[in-house]
Amino acid sequence: MKWIDLRSDTVTKPTKAMRRAMGEAAVGDDVYGEDPTVNLLEKTMAQMTGMEAGLFCASGTQSNLLALIAHCNRGDEYIVGQMAHTYRYEGGGAAVLGSIQPQPLDFEPDGTLDLDRVGQSIKPDDFHFARTTLLCLENTQGGKVLPMDYLARTRAFVDAHDLALHLDGARVFNAAVKLNVDLQQITRHFDTVSCCLSKGLGAPVGSVLCGPTKIIKKARRWRKMLGGGMRQAGILAAAGLHALKNHITRLEDDHKNAQKLALNLSDIKGINIDPQGVQTNIIFADIKADMVKLQGHLKKNSIIIDSSNDLRLVTHLDIKAQDIEHTIGAFNSFFS
Ligand SMILES: *Cc1c(COP(=O)(O)O)cnc(C)c1O
Repeated sequence: MKWIDLRSDTVTKPTKAMRRAMGEAAVGDDVYGEDPTVNLLEKTMAQMTGMEAGLFCASGTQSNLLALIAHCNRGDEYIVGQMAHTYRYEGGGAAVLGSIQPQPLDFEPDGTLDLDRVGQSIKPDDFHFARTTLLCLENTQGGKVLPMDYLARTRAFVDAHDLALHLDGARVFNAAVKLNVDLQQITRHFDTVSCCLSKGLGAPVGSVLCGPTKIIKKARRWRKMLGGGMRQAGILAAAGLHALKNHITRLEDDHKNAQKLALNLSDIKGINIDPQGVQTNIIFADIKADMVKLQGHLKKNSIIIDSSNDLRLVTHLDIKAQDIEHTIGAFNSFFS
């Protein structure tokens, strides 16, 4: 039996072709820099993002943490979204392991950080304050694509204020596919970018941090210190390379599936969805129902969701068009 798991795009399982690529990967000891497949993945991602160098990391959390630590010194501060993954969902790693103070600000409804408010929260050069050194954005943010003109304005802003700019690009490929632009059109505005391979791209493990050689060299040292120096990791990198080759353009299907699901669910009395907010593969639905009952009903129909009334539904590689039809039917039968 097939489960339709809509909780996250991290639940994808490696395809047969991906497993074959992993099985056939040329490997070596990556701590010695001798794994050809890891080296190729790092070089490929650096080229795709237009950066000098790449670093294969165990997770997006590790990749973001390494970026923060490589950019900031002890007692520095980074400005970040209140609901940003790097601030809220990474165990406070920047503070715990980097002695870096966060300055969180609320995201605007479109997923941006208001640059006037960012400017107001930059601390003056005065020993009372932490040193503000980094601004961190997220794209996509809750499935929303940051506007291209905002990225250009943000680059000019950080240059004027002498800040570095990091992108948590866990789903930056979704943004590029949605805008129908080359990835570099987005990443060129940033100093460093973290891209997840294990979300919509469907690899089992891994993220790549890309940036200037100097920053990546620092990040590599910290990765080793954190226990992230892996040996024959080419087996994992091969999955990433396979994903980059085969699973980027198809993100379009995930976006179409999310659109269709959102449109049909928003017709149901008891479900409230802002269609403007559904730009890529993530839907937020405000549901007026007993969630445990809804969850149980869907489970009987082999559909898995979370139990929050503020429900997040995510489409991905393992959700096909007919699964969307089936899901719409199951929601309808519950609410009618
Ligand atoms: C998933 C995700 C990450 C990284 O998460 P890991 O589970 O550590 O790979 C980072 N940022 C955002 C926005 C994410 O959704």
